[in-house]
Amino acid sequence: MSNILVTGGAGYIGSHAVKLFLERGHHVWVYDSLVYGHRAAVPADRLIVGDLNEPHRIDQVLLEKRIDACVHFAAFTYVGESVTNPAKYYQNNLVNTLNLMECLRKQKVARFIFSSTAATYGMPETMPITEATPQVPINPYGASKLAVERALADYAHAYQWGFAALRYFNASGAHPDGTIGEDHTPETHLIPLIILAAMGKRPQIEIFGTDYPTPDGTCVRDYIHVCDLAEAHLLALEKLQPGQQMHYNLGIGRGYSVREVIAAVEAVTGKKVPIKEGPRRAGDPPVLVASSDKIQKELGWKPRYSDIKAIVETAWNWHKAHPKGYKDK
Ligand code: UDP
Repeated sequence: MSNILVTGGAGYIGSHAVKLFLERGHHVWVYDSLVYGHRAAVPADRLIVGDLNEPHRIDQVLLEKRIDACVHFAAFTYVGESVTNPAKYYQNNLVNTLNLMECLRKQKVARFIFSSTAATYGMPETMPITEATPQVPINPYGASKLAVERALADYAHAYQWGFAALRYFNASGAHPDGTIGEDHTPETHLIPLIILAAMGKRPQIEIFGTDYPTPDGTCVRDYIHVCDLAEAHLLALEKLQPGQQMHYNLGIGRGYSVREVIAAVEAVTGKKVPIKEGPRRAGDPPVLVASSDKIQKELGWKPRYSDIKAIVETAWNWHKAHPKGYKDK
C-alpha cells in the first residue's frame, strides 16, 4: 500500500486512475487546480485544490501526507493551443513538472509515473509504433512531454528514481459504472463530439479530411479505454524498482478510422449522426497505431476493451446519464 499523490487527479484520465487506486486499497491524495478538472470527479475527502506553480504547497502536502509515490497527470493537452501559445505549454507541462520533480527529490519520493503521449513520436513512417520508434514531436505539446521524459531519465540515473513514462494513444470511454467520464471544455475529442452530434447537442460531426491514404480516406487512430490506461498506471507503480526506467506505449494495437468510429456510435446509440466532410486538420498524421507488446510482455498488462463498440458503449452510458457532464452531478 502506498501514499500516492495524483496530480491532475480530477481530470479525465486521472479520475479513473484515482478510482482504481482507491479500490485497490491505496491511500490517494489528489492535487488538482480544478482549472480543467472537476470537483465532482473525485471523492471530496481526497481532494487538495492547488496549482503546480506553488512548490511550497506541494512540499507541505508531501510531508503531511507522507507521500511515497507520485502519478503525474496534470498538464495542458490541447495540441492546437500549444502551437499558438507554446509559452503556456512549456510553463505548465515542463517548468511546473520540473518544479514538482524537485519537490519530490528533496523529500526523497523516488517513484514517479508520468503521462506521456503518442504526440512525442510526431509523424512516424512505420506502423505500428514501438517504443524504439524515434521520438520527433511536431508540436509544442509533444515537445514539452518529451522534454520531461528526458529529464526523468537523468533523474533515474543520478538519483535512483524509478519512473514510468506511459505514452498514451487515444484515451476514450468512461467508467462502466457511469459515475465518471469525459467532460472537456472545449471538447475537441472525436468520440464525445460524435456522441454529442448523435444526441442533437451539436449540429454535426465534421470529418477532418477524407483524402488520406487509408482504406476509407479518413484518419486512423488507436483508441484505448481509460480504465485500461488506469490499470497500466497501477501495474507500473507496483513493479517499479529504484533507478528503473520504464517506457511503454499504451494502445490496443488496432486502428479505427473516423468513419468506423462514427459507425460504432451509430450502432451503439441507434441514432443517425449528421456528417460534414471537411478539410484536413493541420498536423494530423494519417495513421497512428501503437504496439503495446512491451508492456504486455514485461508487466502482464492486457487491455480489457479491444473493440471500439465496447468502448463507445461506456462513453454513451456516461453521456446519457450526464447530458451536461459534471454539471449534472
Ligand atoms: N477528428 C475529426 N473531427 C473532429 C475531431 C477529430 O475528424 O471533430 C479526427 C482527427 O482528425 C483525428 C481523430 O479524429 O484523426 C482523433 O482526433 P482527437 O482530437 O480525438 O485525438 P488526437 O488523435 O488528435 O489525439
